Amino acid sequence: MVSNMPVIDTEKCDKCGLCISICKCGILVMGDDGVKAIESEDCSRCTTWCNTCELVCPTGAITCPFEVVLEDGRE
Ligand code: SF4
Ligand code: SF4
Repeated sequence: MVSNMPVIDTEKCDKCGLCISICKCGILVMGDDGVKAIESEDCSRCTTWCNTCELVCPTGAITCPFEVVLEDGRE
């Protein structure tokens, strides 16, 4: 099953809040351990895969699975 949701590595998240402030669909929320993505029927923007949350994250904690990422998958 392919997710349309960003994947957040909370161990890398320093809770700066940047991704939350730029996400237009509001699916990113701050939890005790860092940012989480919540499923929402209201999230229409994320289906356009704007990818902005991944781009703004200074620690590389966010990976959008709908984009090819070579870092972890290289041979
Ligand atoms: S890809 Fe865009 S809409 Fe989706 S969670 Fe990230 S910032 Fe929000
Ligand atoms: S931008 Fe990255 S480090 Fe900052 S709160 Fe979001 S996931 Fe955490």
